[in-house]
Amino acid sequence: SPSQGYYTRRGGVGESGDFITSPEISQVFGELIGIWYISEWMAMGKPNTFQLVELGPGRGTLTEDVLRVFKQLSSVLSTCDVSVHLVEVSPKLSEIQAVMLTGEKVQPNSEDESAYMKGISKTGIPIFWYRDIQDVPPGFSFYLAHEFFDALPIHKFQQRTEKGWREVLVDIDPEVPDQLRFVLSPSRTPATQNFIQPEETRDHVEVCPEAGVIVQRLASRIEKDGGAALVADYGHDGTKTDTFRGFRNHKLHNVLSAPGTADLTADVDFSYLRKMAQGKTATLGPVKQREFLKNMGIDLRVQVLLQNSGDPATREQLLHSYDMLMNPEKMGDCFNFFALLPHHRLVHPDKKDKPEKKSPLPPVAGFNELLLK
Ligand code: SAH
Repeated sequence: SPSQGYYTRRGGVGESGDFITSPEISQVFGELIGIWYISEWMAMGKPNTFQLVELGPGRGTLTEDVLRVFKQLSSVLSTCDVSVHLVEVSPKLSEIQAVMLTGEKVQPNSEDESAYMKGISKTGIPIFWYRDIQDVPPGFSFYLAHEFFDALPIHKFQQRTEKGWREVLVDIDPEVPDQLRFVLSPSRTPATQNFIQPEETRDHVEVCPEAGVIVQRLASRIEKDGGAALVADYGHDGTKTDTFRGFRNHKLHNVLSAPGTADLTADVDFSYLRKMAQGKTATLGPVKQREFLKNMGIDLRVQVLLQNSGDPATREQLLHSYDMLMNPEKMGDCFNFFALLPHHRLVHPDKKDKPEKKSPLPPVAGFNELLLK
């Protein structure tokens, strides 16, 4: 909702808000993601320009950490023209992002331009803000979606053996004033007919058609203009059923009470995202966050930070945040990484002539074990 929606009104990411995310826990998270993009940029032949497009950037912390890596590796990227494109619906969060990334409040852009705001990062990179991925200009792009897809609305369905699929709907409770309740649709709804995969075997499913549409757009854009998308979120590969939850002040909150005041979230179904890529791109993952970060070299990075810090409180904080990100009981197992990549990145295009000349493709960082030579 543009007026009463959670993200347009509140959007409480961070320690003082409703939920905390990995980039808010440790700078190392965003740094390793920055390295992932540089590694893919190199593997894709170092094109002389790329767009970093982030969906739902929250407070802007992740982009800030990625841009710091780009700055530190500016000698590697010196021939490359980089721009940042943020897709954000929340006016409040876009202001926070602007201050975080540019160091100042950014003036709104004129109505007739596709970007509603623009500015320059503290490291000199142009940044543009949009409400929709479709407004982002075409071009070779690296997409990033961290804890974005779980925030999009879902449909819920239940299988009633005698009646087939029914949609779970929200109704006004006739008995309790100002209270909502869940009900099952008396007959098949259009969503029941359109959003359930024919091969579905679960008896309760959650489908996020908006995520499907966005993945279709990302896959088409990557197929046409090149680049890659990295999606990280908590989720499953088509196995879980009832995951819809509300969070307020870091505590579970009844999803039906006080609408618009709590973060509503449902686990991302990566098997659905893979289907929605429709073969336009290759897909990798989902792999668990702790595997991805380990493969990206988190242990080495944390060791270096520990060696460089003499302050016991900082060292304690580093170890604590490492544990939050990596511990299977915390964020290590339930968060997953998933990527969309052009087919030629994983398989050599079929060249009938001289197949023996093919050099091996470099492995995709994070999804393969890290081999230190
Ligand atoms: N990526 C950040 C924030 C995650 S919270 C982090 O990891 O910390 C979800 C983000 O998505 C918020 O920035 C929210 O405002 C944004 N968002 C939610 N729905 C959106 C939509 N439909 N289009 C664009 N952005 C959206």
